[in-house]
Amino acid sequence: MPISVDNPLLEEFSFAPFSNIKNEHFKPAFLRSIEIAKTEIDLVTSSKEDPTFKNTIETLEFSGKQLDLVTSIFFNLNSAETNDEIQKIAQEVSPLLSEFKNDVILNKALFERVKTVYLQMESLDLTIEQRMLLDQKYKAFSRNGANLSEDKKKELREIDKQLSTLSLKFGENVLAETNRFELLITKEKDLEGLPDSVKEEAEATAKEKNKEGWIFTLEYPSYIPFMKYAKNRELRKELALAFGAKGFHNDELDNQQNVLQIVNLRYQRARLLGFETHADFVLEERMAEKPEKVKSFLSELLTKAKPAAQGEFSELENFAKNLDQIDRLEKWDAAYYGEKLKQELFDLDDEKLKPYFKLENVIDGIFEVANRLYELNFEEVFEVDTYHPDVKTYQVTDVKNNPVALFYADFHPRPGKRDGAWMTVYRPQYVQNDKNYRPHISIVCNFTKPTKKTPSLLTFNEVTTLFHEFGHALHGMLADTTYPSLSGTSVYWDFVELPSQMLENWCYEQEALQIFAKHYETKEIIPEKLIEKIKKASNFHEGMATLRQISFGMLDMSWHGIDPSKIKDIKAHEDAAFEPTKLYPDVPQNCMSTSFSHIFQGGYSSGYYSYKWAEVLDADTFEYFQENGIFSREIAQSFRDHVLSRGGTEHPMTLYKRFRGKEPQPDALLKRAGLMKKQRRIMD
Ligand SMILES: [Zn+2]
Repeated sequence: MPISVDNPLLEEFSFAPFSNIKNEHFKPAFLRSIEIAKTEIDLVTSSKEDPTFKNTIETLEFSGKQLDLVTSIFFNLNSAETNDEIQKIAQEVSPLLSEFKNDVILNKALFERVKTVYLQMESLDLTIEQRMLLDQKYKAFSRNGANLSEDKKKELREIDKQLSTLSLKFGENVLAETNRFELLITKEKDLEGLPDSVKEEAEATAKEKNKEGWIFTLEYPSYIPFMKYAKNRELRKELALAFGAKGFHNDELDNQQNVLQIVNLRYQRARLLGFETHADFVLEERMAEKPEKVKSFLSELLTKAKPAAQGEFSELENFAKNLDQIDRLEKWDAAYYGEKLKQELFDLDDEKLKPYFKLENVIDGIFEVANRLYELNFEEVFEVDTYHPDVKTYQVTDVKNNPVALFYADFHPRPGKRDGAWMTVYRPQYVQNDKNYRPHISIVCNFTKPTKKTPSLLTFNEVTTLFHEFGHALHGMLADTTYPSLSGTSVYWDFVELPSQMLENWCYEQEALQIFAKHYETKEIIPEKLIEKIKKASNFHEGMATLRQISFGMLDMSWHGIDPSKIKDIKAHEDAAFEPTKLYPDVPQNCMSTSFSHIFQGGYSSGYYSYKWAEVLDADTFEYFQENGIFSREIAQSFRDHVLSRGGTEHPMTLYKRFRGKEPQPDALLKRAGLMKKQRRIMD
């Protein structure tokens, strides 16, 4: 029975009916599917039967399917092909969605039924996946206070309210600080070293503000190239000091009190819910599990990476001394001399590599890699509806020609698409009534466009980005679970980057590159020497980069892995946290925490370590492939069976150990990054 005859979003569809969707369809579709979801949940709560896994947990899991479809179509469009109208709808529907979510989480009758089943877990005959589902459903409530007394519940709501106001305020202050500073340059000689495109951009910025000269700001596209290329050391210092002092001026935009309040409220929230610290609360749902594990992970990496980082630092210091008689290397010298040294050592620029990476060749190459690893076939199809003519669609099948997935790929930038690259899901994989519904997966990128004369030629960075997103896509496409919320990339946060980062490794291997890295005119395969250079350049200053990531991870844990109530001076606290990773002299007028948006505004609190954690996993996994051949069918099959197809159905450490035979070790990463052996680069 069709739900509505005049709204394509509310009709049954086998794939997203983009060309029939009009903007005015969205809001009614949201309202209607929220209503349907509510009715489905009411059926659970009003049931006269005793709660069982099937009538409660499974029914809850499969409720709101319509809403999920509408939500994913809408928000993917809002990222990939948006306009003012869609953005306006997003603002209207977002509160409706969070209200609905809240209603579910606060639904006492529903929680009581879920809890009843949860408490019987051990006596029920459940599969591993079902146990995980039950655990997750229960925790969705309990981690939001469902088990607390009414008083404590009220307290929790109050904390949540304050926290959301504070992180909003934190972000607004950082933004306002970013916007209120500008570096106006009026003498052309002060621009020495900067590429023309950067100068043009700065000139345009000045014009926009009705000023003569060139303006540089604290926004990354302006700030980063200035620090990298500007020869004028005093100006680099001025810009760097401004950048490092965001939220640290003791004025109306200061974030020091906000940081203290945020960490204390998070701590109180965690205590209310029975956790030792905020980090304990967060890590309960992470592969790393405990703050102690994160802390020892970071300090082990630190011990191993520090000698290399110190070696690189003194090498850079000597280089700067020889070149410009710099006596003491400061933070504002890092990017500038780093870039100069890199050029001297590698002389590797994008223009030399790009002819080997024609987009079509890279796509064919990546499909070939997927075929050799997982026996997948990709066939472009033209009958699937898309939201833009640029979007390509592929039918993915296995050796027996069974459908595996529908794959969308949207490669080039255009107005209305946000920056970056990402993988997204239109329909997850799941099994219902014995039917295995195959997933609809998409990747969206912003790669160099073809011109009239040349095809789309990718930079090496774009090539690795494509492999990265495709790695996520494989995680989605090869999913083979029963429940949609545990399928594909629905895994713990510090595990989700394994399949993506792992696949990037193939971009550095001769055996893989010779499949697709062919000069688009001469058809010559990329020379081995060039590959060697790419590999070496990718490890350039890896020791210092590693130390930097560790320092942020440690700062994050220093705020969230303890009782913060005694911290009064945030700069002193930060300095202490940075001490073990320090290379450059401290800058007293700067503070990182007051603009550390990742952890105080976004959702990365107690999670910054994940970046390095995922690298350890990917390097450890890839080493296993290397030992057996990077196209080893056997290892690929095992990775598919134990990791890719299993989604979040079991604890990631269990899945990983089943695949690898042991816990992940950081050695493979340190070896790959050249940090295990002594750095021996001879400078003249
Ligand atoms: Zn990723």
